Amino acid sequence: MRHDPNCLFCKIIDGQIPSRKVYEDEHVFAFHDIHPWAPVHFLLVPKLHLHSMAAVLPEHAGLMGHMMTLAPRLAMEQGCNPYPDGGFRVMVNTGTEGGQEVHHLHMHVIGGPRPWRKG
Ligand code: 5GP
Ligand code: ZN
Repeated sequence: MRHDPNCLFCKIIDGQIPSRKVYEDEHVFAFHDIHPWAPVHFLLVPKLHLHSMAAVLPEHAGLMGHMMTLAPRLAMEQGCNPYPDGGFRVMVNTGTEGGQEVHHLHMHVIGGPRPWRKG
């Protein structure tokens, strides 16, 4: 399903629920996490509603590659320090045992000077 009307992140992508936007293009949307762990903490999501990384198929390889290549660029733009002394964390929680709470695939990008609130 391209859009799930009951999905929180689909509503954020559509602007029905406000968010602090970091980036948007035809395929993805990025916004600041409402409960940041660290000085930089944003979520990068596909506009396509995929419930989780467990729904990813070979046909999504381009989309997943796009997200993975955007993450370092956006991390730097948002204030992460350069590798190797700086850096960032990319996290994709998947399913209940994976700690996933919102069921629309999302990549956490977390970084900035420590200490962090979590992690
Ligand atoms: P998960 O635990 O599913 O990997 O992460 C979900 C993330 O979404 C959490 O870090 C949580 O703070 C964030 N989140 C939940 N609801 C909202 C919201 O309404 N707006 C924003 N910006 N972030 C949210
Ligand atoms: Zn969704």
